[in-house]
Amino acid sequence: VLCIDLGGTNLRYGIINRRGELKNFSILTLSNDDKSEQSIIKILWEIIRAGKADVDSIGIAIPGFIYFDKDVVVSSPNFPDWRNFRIRKILMEKVQLPVLVENDANAFAIGEAWKGAGKEFKNFVGITLGTGVGGGIILNRKIWHGSRGSAGEIGHITVEPEGVKCNCGARGCLEMFASAQAVIREAKRAFKNMIKGYKKDEISKKIFEMAKAGDEDAKRIFEDVGYYIGIAIADIANLLNIEGVVIGGGLSNAWEFIYPAIKREASYRINPVSRTGLKILRAKLGDYAGLYGMAVLGLQLFKEC
Ligand SMILES: [Zn+2]
Repeated sequence: VLCIDLGGTNLRYGIINRRGELKNFSILTLSNDDKSEQSIIKILWEIIRAGKADVDSIGIAIPGFIYFDKDVVVSSPNFPDWRNFRIRKILMEKVQLPVLVENDANAFAIGEAWKGAGKEFKNFVGITLGTGVGGGIILNRKIWHGSRGSAGEIGHITVEPEGVKCNCGARGCLEMFASAQAVIREAKRAFKNMIKGYKKDEISKKIFEMAKAGDEDAKRIFEDVGYYIGIAIADIANLLNIEGVVIGGGLSNAWEFIYPAIKREASYRINPVSRTGLKILRAKLGDYAGLYGMAVLGLQLFKEC
């Protein structure tokens, strides 16, 4: 399977076989000019043209809301120009091979279920902590899409009813408290002068270093992230009684600071039956999880996984 993970900044791709071996892995950095529907098709088509002779299918993980019934990507916060983008149909007509698309957080959960921390669970939820917060629900070892395709949008669970306004239009979504955006916002509030001139992606790293060096305010920023994730996990566990939660994405690197708060909040709020044996684990596949998830979907077409 030619697997492509289309992120807001980086596009990762490679070929994965049924044994789970990843070959020809590459990363492309996308500029803002690359983000229109036309440019993305052009970029993807070049990658596909170069790799198609060696594969049976193509899988693309996408950070957006996918309406499965209509086979369109309705919109994507990382690609603001997209509107009802028929990415799958357009590529399939060009390539004459099966093309699969999946939400990137779902692909993450599927990948972790196959080769990562989700291997041991029949039912679990995957959570990605990046620029935004994504989620994927695995029930009976299969992704749960919901009625139309957008189940698992954990980032938009309400954790503060009157809290900060979210990009989705609502208020107090988890994404506003447990993403890199949240860390940057709180860092600007707490360390205004110290982080002046820092680029966005440098701020989280700087705060992490400060926390490691023992700075209480820096630690507090990550602990707050953990607090809100713990609340969301409690809601999920009370609803679904899953066996596990697998947490990945860039912000999970601050595990030592976020995990204690996650655990405290989750165990305090989850009912005693759902709490029993619930494991909250760090993801194992790093930046490759989405690629592995798309490999599973491609291989399933041929009953090889
Ligand atoms: Zn929201």
